Amino acid sequence: MFENLSDRLERSFKILKGEGKITEINVAETLKDVRKALLDADVNYKVAKQFTDTVKAKALGMDVLTAVKPSQLMVKIVHDELALLMGGDSVDVNITGSPAVILMSGLQGSGKTTFSGKLAQLLKGKRGKKPLLVACDVYRPAAIEQLKVLGEQIGIPVYSEPDCKNPVQIAQNAIKQARQDGQDLVIVDTAGRLAVDEEMMREIKAIKDAINPNEILFVVDSMTGQDAVNTAKEFNDRLDFTGVVLTKLDGDTRGGAALSIRTVVNKPIKFVGTGEKMDALDVFHPARMADRILG
Ligand code: GDP
Repeated sequence: MFENLSDRLERSFKILKGEGKITEINVAETLKDVRKALLDADVNYKVAKQFTDTVKAKALGMDVLTAVKPSQLMVKIVHDELALLMGGDSVDVNITGSPAVILMSGLQGSGKTTFSGKLAQLLKGKRGKKPLLVACDVYRPAAIEQLKVLGEQIGIPVYSEPDCKNPVQIAQNAIKQARQDGQDLVIVDTAGRLAVDEEMMREIKAIKDAINPNEILFVVDSMTGQDAVNTAKEFNDRLDFTGVVLTKLDGDTRGGAALSIRTVVNKPIKFVGTGEKMDALDVFHPARMADRILG
């Protein structure tokens, strides 16, 4: 589908043959290819430009060892810089305290409910946590039902108050309930809208202020490409979230949203969703994502 970056660089580096250093002139052509590859991977335009400027500064004057093709060296510089910008290492989720509280945020359809189930199952299995899932969508009864079905499927209790229209109260009551029942992890799934709106933002901010969560995770569909960055920025401006979850990476996106979001909001990407099933969840690895973006 896409030509990979190594092949592109191979072509543009033909002009470099015989030269021992990467110079201003021969790097310019190559960086155009790097930028094109990033845009093809759905990286935001400004982010791609900023990125190639950084790579240029690093590459200029670098000795090209006779054993290494200039194109390979350039791919390595680009790869390492991508991984570094996306955080370098994986970042763990904060589940200290009893109960630890994790609040989900994001647009409707981004994968919040699915991810809530996946995370509960993961932390129960791998970290021995006793999770309680909380349905805080007071607008769509179907959303409460969806979480209940998931909870049953993975054997995790779900707290809901179908007659209550106040999500802040539901979240607070759920935490009380968790304390009483000895559950040490509360995962709060919230309502999302199809686009960012003032009422949704006020509501989720009120939930945040009332329950003071360990983590506020922003869940975003990686297939939404450039839009993902704008949404991330709006949510972060209002919520100051603590981490990002990139869903639907099993689709055919290159995942450039990871680089854009990380660069624009400067918050770690913590998990990636790779399917609809409850075990389709991975911890985010920057180096692997760099491989994916470069193809
Ligand atoms: P919410 O509205 O944010 O709670 O989103 P949902 O959890 O209901 O997810 C919306 C749709 O995306 C559902 O059909 C999910 O099965 C699907 N979905 C969620 N995460 C993933 C993922 O990682 N990969 C794929 N392929 N589908 C996903």
